Amino acid sequence: MIGVYIHFPWCLRKCPYCDFTSYATRQDDVPHEAFAGAVIRELERRLLAGDWTGSKLTVFVGGGTPSLWRPEALGRVLARLRELGELVEVTVECNPSSLDADGATRLAAAGVGRLSVGVQSLEARHLAFLGRLHDGPGALGALVAARAAALRVSADLIAGMPGQTPAELERDIDAVVEAGVEHLSVYTLTIEPGTPFGDLQRRRLLAAPSDDHLADLYEAARAALASRGFEHYEVSNWGRHCLHNRVYWEGGQYLGLGPGAFGFHRTTGGGVRYRNTLDPARYLSPSPPDDWRENLSAADLVNEGVLLGLRLREGIDLAALGARHGLDAIAPRARAVERLCREGLLEREGTRLRIPEERWLLADRVIRELFVIGQGSNRGP
Ligand code: SF4
Repeated sequence: MIGVYIHFPWCLRKCPYCDFTSYATRQDDVPHEAFAGAVIRELERRLLAGDWTGSKLTVFVGGGTPSLWRPEALGRVLARLRELGELVEVTVECNPSSLDADGATRLAAAGVGRLSVGVQSLEARHLAFLGRLHDGPGALGALVAARAAALRVSADLIAGMPGQTPAELERDIDAVVEAGVEHLSVYTLTIEPGTPFGDLQRRRLLAAPSDDHLADLYEAARAALASRGFEHYEVSNWGRHCLHNRVYWEGGQYLGLGPGAFGFHRTTGGGVRYRNTLDPARYLSPSPPDDWRENLSAADLVNEGVLLGLRLREGIDLAALGARHGLDAIAPRARAVERLCREGLLEREGTRLRIPEERWLLADRVIRELFVIGQGSNRGP
């Protein structure tokens, strides 16, 4: 399975916590067809560098706000991709403020099967804090419109707004489940440098959510979703698995198309990761440059396999991960594994390791301790 990620870099307004590659614009100013043409050009250019034809492809259109993109223009890109491989999952990220019944129907007609809707919260004061353009009823209306168009639906929620209570998060979860979502992601609010929230934090006018606050909210989400039968299959994700994200978590290859998109492919003894130019105007030019590119050693890929795989319920098979990259992944981590197992932060079954679900909040610490620097690696965690 190969992932195809398409980054749509425009939004109606920039949210104050956002550090994604996204630029505020009016929907009328989006170059719908020119962008589709540039994505198809990039796809064809990258195909020359590797043989992706005949693969099973998962497609994820993220952003930015891809629901601003005219569905027929996106449909041209999907049609070209369909000539190259079987599209086993096509997901488009949507904002409630730009998704209605007509849009959902046209996305379905263009070949989209799944929408990931940025609900974030249904509480007016939290949506206002986050600078979102929609309100709670609008978000639920977008979910219902997507279901009515026979699309599979995932919802994103954010945990950690000032004063947010576990009961509020549970109410949000209840309401979106009631609206028919089959998948939920709950992300914790992070404050990134260089954003308006980052500036407020630097001036001590805004504090990051405390660990205790986040832990209370996370436990509430875990309990609420377990009682509604949603499988907690990854640290932040519940429900019917997102195949595209599994490509990343399992160390698979992916094409990144569009401004700021990352791509990755394996090479003999390692891999290459690139990021496209961040500038939409340059991206639309006939031969846009890569913004950045790095070579990854086999040891880097083992570290990444640990980092991403331990976020999954099933964890990782360390022996298989090492064998895949021609390295011994077990010996350099043996002492850390012993220690983490003793502390109850890891479970071991043969060469398989997993973090017990009730310790997932500590996943970053566990993963940090399992990073091995110096085994031919050129990067730290
Ligand atoms: S809608 Fe999403 S991508 Fe756009 S500015 Fe807000 S958080 Fe960022």
